[in-house]
Amino acid sequence: MSSEKKKKIIKTIKIDADKCNGCRACEVICSAFHAAPKYSSNNPARSRIRVVRHPLKDIYVPVYAGEYAPAECMGRDKYVIDGKEYEECAFCRAACPSRDAFKEPDSGLPVKCDMCEGEDEPLCVKWCITDALVCEEREEEVDEEEAQEELEIGLEALADKHGFQKIIDAVARMSMAKAGGEK
Ligand code: SF4
Ligand code: SF4
Repeated sequence: MSSEKKKKIIKTIKIDADKCNGCRACEVICSAFHAAPKYSSNNPARSRIRVVRHPLKDIYVPVYAGEYAPAECMGRDKYVIDGKEYEECAFCRAACPSRDAFKEPDSGLPVKCDMCEGEDEPLCVKWCITDALVCEEREEEVDEEEAQEELEIGLEALADKHGFQKIIDAVARMSMAKAGGEK
């Protein structure tokens, strides 16, 4: 039996790393938006976008926080850009047990880009004056059952690793932050 298909607007952010000047305005606004209360601090560790930088050359690559990975992956990719080799895992979007990237500093829970839920435009895109980040929209048919299953698997993996109480506390903190930001 096939499950129902629904049309959905999918928002994506196109990254043009060549235009990024490393100003980190995207990290500042994202971390401020996700602080509790909203806009009370701007710790980049809370940001859902991080700008990977090569220390000797002006190369900046914005990376968005993606899905949580409960286990380390088996492979380790290496990237060579303009002849420079980058640290393994530097451009990975996942929070995983082998590194601290994309983990909420207070709770240690993984964070993921939420496209600034409720905002008319992603804030990092709004704040990126060089147009290194550009928002794009497309319409797609999605399977409602599959989307629900993915959510359940993701929550199960988080609960296994961190325990339900920690997740409940984090959700409560997030709702408080949201309520604090609403006027
Ligand atoms: S705001 Fe734009 S230019 Fe500045 S670091 Fe972020 S992506 Fe790069
Ligand atoms: S779209 Fe919003 S949540 Fe995602 S990285 Fe940009 S500012 Fe953060």
